This record gives sequence, structure tokens and C-alpha cells, in this order.
Amino acid sequence: MTKRVYNFYPGPATLPLPALKRAQEEFLDFQGTGMSVIEISHRSKEYDELHNAATELVRELLGVPDDYKVLWLQGGASTQFFMVPANLQVPGKPMEYVDTGTWSTKAIKEAKVYGEVNVVASSADDKFRHIPKDITFSDNAAYAHITSNNTIYGTEYHEWPDVPDDVPLVCDMSSDLMARKIDVKRFGVIYAGAQKNLGPAGVTLVVIREDLVNRAPESLPTLLKWRTEVARNSLFHTPPVFSIYMSKLALDYWNEFGGVAAIERVNREKAKILYDIIDKSNGFYKGHARKDSRSLMNVTFRLETEELEAKCVEEGRKRNLIGLKGHRSVGGMRASIYNAMTLEGVKALAEFMMEFMEENQ
Ligand SMILES: *Cc1c(COP(=O)(O)O)cnc(C)c1O
Repeated sequence: MTKRVYNFYPGPATLPLPALKRAQEEFLDFQGTGMSVIEISHRSKEYDELHNAATELVRELLGVPDDYKVLWLQGGASTQFFMVPANLQVPGKPMEYVDTGTWSTKAIKEAKVYGEVNVVASSADDKFRHIPKDITFSDNAAYAHITSNNTIYGTEYHEWPDVPDDVPLVCDMSSDLMARKIDVKRFGVIYAGAQKNLGPAGVTLVVIREDLVNRAPESLPTLLKWRTEVARNSLFHTPPVFSIYMSKLALDYWNEFGGVAAIERVNREKAKILYDIIDKSNGFYKGHARKDSRSLMNVTFRLETEELEAKCVEEGRKRNLIGLKGHRSVGGMRASIYNAMTLEGVKALAEFMMEFMEENQ
């Protein structure tokens, strides 16, 4: 028997086991070609079908309307931090951001390369424990940018901020893509590095409303313009075939699972189990995120001392509960319970947390 643990790493992260098995089964011979999927041409009929099927699955699962384009790009979400301002800047108009922690801070830094940036709200003075309320973007903003789930701090938007009519809302959904039902129409652009909720590292999903595709100045380098890849169905140059292939297998799995509604149901159940333990622990476990901003995906918490936290991580590891150490900027512990983390895995963690509390109170 192959050893498998419960993997709570924040990303790259756990993937659905059936998708991994399927990849293993067909790794040497992809659909009777006698070649691996990573050996065939990205111009072959076999690859083309796979590529389009992956895009169709995204459209179906995410509910992408017809007037939006779906792209598979490289360079991670971090590359979109500069592709967003590069493509959406408008001379004389500010680019507006909400700062909810590390990833949005990085996105803001890149936008400043391109022009004036307004940070319209921030939770920095609260160690990013919450999502700001009463966010107001200005009428003349080129676009408004938010980070839906803050992987490091464990916070997540529970309602979307309003944007003025002609201001597109751009969202970094790297760590909560397909975790819950969303209305794509509220957004101008959605982007996500694959390695948290979609597939392996190496590919970035970008969903763009059609009218925004042509905004980029012609002077941008070819590959920096979204429209280059829109015109070529993300096949302008060699795409990250293996990452797209693995994402497609994972998407097949989620499709059979019942789609995003079914994923969301389980995600809510998983998160509730862990937050209930934190809330009923009389302060033994202290949640980092404010209750009104808690993430469904990354449950962040601290214990009384760093020694106790280290002990908890180590004892968890012995029980095959891996990756529970928090990010260095928050400290403490973090359980990343992305879509592919099973209810069973969360129950195993919950049982361990209860026992650890009893033994160390
Ligand atoms: C992980 C993460 C990123 C960075 O993604 P890369 O693909 O490594 O560039 C950006 N934003 C959020 C919200 C993340 O969780």
C-alpha cells in the first residue's frame, strides 16, 4: 500500500486522489498514443481535446458567462500582479486596491510600477485579522482589486464590495477558487494560481470579461497582453501541458462530485468542525481571524506558547497530519483545508486537536 497522509500544506496542496490515480494509470500511454501526455505535441489532436475540455470544465463549474474568456497562463498569480495593471491601466485614472495582507500587498507594489495606486481600505493596523467593511472605490478608478481569500491570515470576503458601474472588479482567487458559489458577472477579471484549489503549480487560470481584453496598450510585450493568448486560445506558445492536464483530471473529479454547490457544502462542514473546536476550547486554541472574516480554506490559530505550538505541529506530524505550521508572518498554526481536503481528513485533525487539548491543558 502506498502511504498517504493528510496534507494541510497551504500550496502546493493536496489533490483529489482519484485524479492522481488516473494520471498514474495513463502516464506512460495517454489515450492510446503510446506516449505520455508530457511527450505529445501541444498541437496534437489529443492535446487540443484535453485543453478545450479543461476550459469547458472551468466554464461549467465556475459558471462563466459567454462574454468571458478563460485563459491558462504561466508565471503564477504573482505574474498577474503586474499583468493586471499592465492590461487595465488607463492614463489619468487611479488603480484602486484593498490591502488584506501579504498577497494584496505584493499586488499593490506591482501596480505602483504602472501608475497611481489608491489603497482604499486596509486591515494592516489589525494584523490583517479582518476584511475591511465599508469599502468605497472611486468612480474614476481604472479598476478595483481585491484578494478574496487571504491564505496567510485566514480571512475571506463574505460579501463582495460594491464597485461603481464602470469600474471592473479584479479578484485574486488563488486560494478559494471554486470553494463556494460565486457570480462571475460581478467581476471583470478573476485570476488564480492553480496550486491551491485547482491542480499542480505551473499554471494560472485567468477569467476576463471580453470588453477588458482590448484595453492594454499596443506597446506592451506580446506575451504581457492578455489578448495575445485570448486570440490563440492560450496556445500562443507552449502551454504548461502537464499542469493543465492535472487540473483537468481534478476538474473531472469535481464535476462528478456535484460541482461547486457540493464542494461548498462540504467546505462549510469542514470549516465549522475546526472553528467550533477553537471556539469551545476556552482559549486553548486562539483563532487569528476575526469571526466575521473567517476563511473557509485556511484556519489560522495560536496556542499559549510557541513551544506548545511546535509540540502540536510535531505530534500532528506523527499522526500523519502534515503541514500544520503557520506562516512565519502570523506564527502559530494553520490548517489549509482546500477543496481536495476530505471531510475524513478534517475529522482526523479535529480528533487530534481535542486530544492534544486534553493532554496539554
Ligand atoms: C499563493 C498565493 C499567491 C501566489 O501565487 P503564485 O502562483 O505562487 O504566484 C497569490 N495570491 C494568493 C491569494 C495566494 O494564496
